[in-house]
Amino acid sequence: MNPSSIYAQPDADGFFGRFGGSFISETLANAVEELQQAYRGYRDDPAFIAEFQMELADYVGRPSPVYYARRLSEEAGGARIFLKREDLNHTGAHKINNVIGQAMLACRMGKRRIIAETGAGQHGVAVATICARYGLECVVYMGSEDIQRQHPNVQRMELLGATVVPVTAGSRTLKDAMNEAIRDWVSNVERTFYLIGSVAGMHPYPTMVRDFQAVIGTECTAQVPRLFARLGMAKQHPDAIVACVGGGSNAMGIFHPYIQHPQVRLIGVEAAGVGLDSGKHAASIQRGSPGVLHGSRSLILQDDHGQVLDTHSISAGLDYPGVGPEHAWLHEIGRAEYVGVTDSDALKAFHLLSRVEGIIPALEASHAVAHAVSLAATLPKDQAILVNLSGRGDKDMDTVMATRTTQGERQA
Ligand SMILES: *Cc1c(COP(=O)(O)O)cnc(C)c1O
Repeated sequence: MNPSSIYAQPDADGFFGRFGGSFISETLANAVEELQQAYRGYRDDPAFIAEFQMELADYVGRPSPVYYARRLSEEAGGARIFLKREDLNHTGAHKINNVIGQAMLACRMGKRRIIAETGAGQHGVAVATICARYGLECVVYMGSEDIQRQHPNVQRMELLGATVVPVTAGSRTLKDAMNEAIRDWVSNVERTFYLIGSVAGMHPYPTMVRDFQAVIGTECTAQVPRLFARLGMAKQHPDAIVACVGGGSNAMGIFHPYIQHPQVRLIGVEAAGVGLDSGKHAASIQRGSPGVLHGSRSLILQDDHGQVLDTHSISAGLDYPGVGPEHAWLHEIGRAEYVGVTDSDALKAFHLLSRVEGIIPALEASHAVAHAVSLAATLPKDQAILVNLSGRGDKDMDTVMATRTTQGERQA
């Protein structure tokens, strides 16, 4: 069997091995079926693809460069480290790639009302952005606790014309906002498109979001050989690719075209928070168990009664109690490796990259940078590590400054 056919996933029902699928109520069956049909129809449609590529070029500013981080590599001492600069995209992260694809699909399906849930607000801002761009009505569900913690993003969404609906049920965070968004979808299914922000949710979302984000990896397959040749390196592919994993969309996006090249190590970095064994983390692959969340089976953080657990990470974007089903499968078959990076190591990498390269990374991406630096030190100089720098760190200044104060106080 050739490798690409082993990895041609999912099956017709949206399963990646035993993960994925569509676990939904009867009331959503028609809406989900309609979406599956629309996506099947448009994913290979030349006009759809051409418009998507034009939007990525003119609105997002793609392709984003691959950059050789020479000084960071010298700091690490070992393999060379390269950065895929998703931080340079319009709105400052990879999320915009996916929301453009889904909003284009919504327009073609005649659905002019977009709903979404958001935790930290970054997906909400991306959705509000694209709704302004296409003149779509935008409703974003957000836990009232998160609304307080992430007020600048609430202001951004409102500035962009979105309605932010506070959710006061449960713990008033992401998982409650998710339930509320699904409830809205059930009651307004005729004219509403539900825009999911990662490779999670019921089929076809994990596949669709991966396909939209795969532009990241596809660009790398063209950019990396040119850059390696310029540096006098005689290889076509990086030896390892490192990306942070929240729901897993930036990681799936850069992994996808490389899955069929088994010599390329694929490494996903989960938020280890205060430590993988502290109970305060968001490491769904390394510490989760199989279960159904958000309409698909994957690895999730849950207690013995199947109650979804609270998660912790210094980076709000990694603070999700599940992970996309394709990652659970890549983990199970051993094609990708998953590791954890703690809050404090991510913070160190945040400062290091800022100081030696003049690039302030998002705290999410800092987890990937931290692992790349420690991995590089163990590898010879002729090896290459490609890091997906999923976003920029402007949004994290308050969080980082707060940790500096507490550290300063501790030292004083
Ligand atoms: C949202 C976000 C993530 C996590 O989401 P994935 O779906 O795992 O990619 C990572 N980095 C940044 C900058 C984000 O905004």
